[in-house]
Amino acid sequence: MFVFSGKRVLILGAARSGIACASLLLQNGAHVTISDNSAKPLLQKELAHLRSKGAIVKTGGHPLSLLSGIDYVIISPGIRSDLAILQKARLHKIRVLSEIEVAYTYISGPVIGITGTNGKTTTTSLVGEIFRQAGRKTLVCGNIGLPISAIAAKTDKRSIVIAEISSFQLENIVDFRPHISVMLNITPDHLDRYPGFAAYAMAKKQIYRNQEQDDYAVINYDDLVSRKSAGRVRAKVVFFSRKKILAAGVFVKDGIIIAKIGGRLQKIIKIAELRIPGPHNLENALAAIACGVLGKIALPSMKKTLKTFHGVEHRLEQVKTVGEVQYINDSKATNVDSVVKALESFEDNIILIAGGRDKGSPYLPLARLVRQKVKALIVLGEAKNKIKKELGSLTKTFTVKSLAEAVKLGQQLAAPGDTVLLSPACASFDMFRNYEERGRVFKEEVKKL
Ligand code: ADP
Repeated sequence: MFVFSGKRVLILGAARSGIACASLLLQNGAHVTISDNSAKPLLQKELAHLRSKGAIVKTGGHPLSLLSGIDYVIISPGIRSDLAILQKARLHKIRVLSEIEVAYTYISGPVIGITGTNGKTTTTSLVGEIFRQAGRKTLVCGNIGLPISAIAAKTDKRSIVIAEISSFQLENIVDFRPHISVMLNITPDHLDRYPGFAAYAMAKKQIYRNQEQDDYAVINYDDLVSRKSAGRVRAKVVFFSRKKILAAGVFVKDGIIIAKIGGRLQKIIKIAELRIPGPHNLENALAAIACGVLGKIALPSMKKTLKTFHGVEHRLEQVKTVGEVQYINDSKATNVDSVVKALESFEDNIILIAGGRDKGSPYLPLARLVRQKVKALIVLGEAKNKIKKELGSLTKTFTVKSLAEAVKLGQQLAAPGDTVLLSPACASFDMFRNYEERGRVFKEEVKKL
């Protein structure tokens, strides 16, 4: 384990995670410099507070001179691993660590680490609810909770940390060891930040790296890349599957979710009783149930949570029904596979709104579902021409300039019983600050109809 007390630490990225990490390190006696690319980072008040506690705050880039005298460089989740300053740090044998590694140093009690290309936030929230509603001291961190560095100081032996973990955060771990790791799926994403799929998959598999035989790895049996990753795991593997009746693990039989873990068989709940829609959400539920069973959560309590959990904002969120047309906000669908899952979750006659900032993956995997189910495709943003080129011949396709225009056109094209679905398959940064803003704008436009 690292000791940061008395050390000089440089944190790259002054958003939520970087700032939380800086606070944690200051509390623990480190000398902190925090640097951000932007000349005026958003969280000015928080940065002023860090300054008052002794941190040095640098903005407007990461000059190489920042490395002078530094013992450790810490990277926030948003920072690219190939920055010049990181290359130089490695060259000079300065340790480069992920923010989760720092947080982990100060965490007591077990950690459940949830990763995968899609479903992390949903599953993390559901696992969090399962433990919280069972009366456990539960600390949820990730995209919608607090950064992991912000909860580290609140942990104790009786607490449980439930952490959503991205591939970027896993790139620079050393000792980070979740007691339960969850691998939801590994499909192409972020190919703009990795040299290829293999490198991206490799980063995800880092989650198992420090696990030992008394730990658990909950792995999606139905996803071939994930299933194969089990071969190299020292932890006890608990598979989950929605397609196959497994000899052991969490699976579905006759519409009922069964957990068979450690030789004990438990009937958990009927699929029909789950509130989150679509086959992919069933996978998220199976993974969450595995965590609940491993965490010895009482069945009645877990059942109650599963029956009431209705998902997370911007993930297949029901916005409104107007003239018997339902409008769905899936703004968080920022890659191709999540759109596949969205299309699988609804009947035919979908009017799909897609586009935004391209992330380097082909849209062709959507072809079959677009042909089968998409009555009209409305494209916008930087990726509009690429999407149109790859999918435009399969259904009626329209190009628009704004989300407002897309919603209005969607309404014109829809007949009673249809679904207008925003599921972009792209990042939002070409037109919005983030996917949340994109989702909110969509919802506002829908509410005007
Ligand atoms: P993440 O945190 O991994 O981005 P979210 O729970 O925020 O995952 O969901 C992101 C998008 O992926 C949403 O569009 C959602 O509908 C879809 N999704 C959720 N779970 C899964 C899954 N298990 N497999 C594929 N897509 C999923």
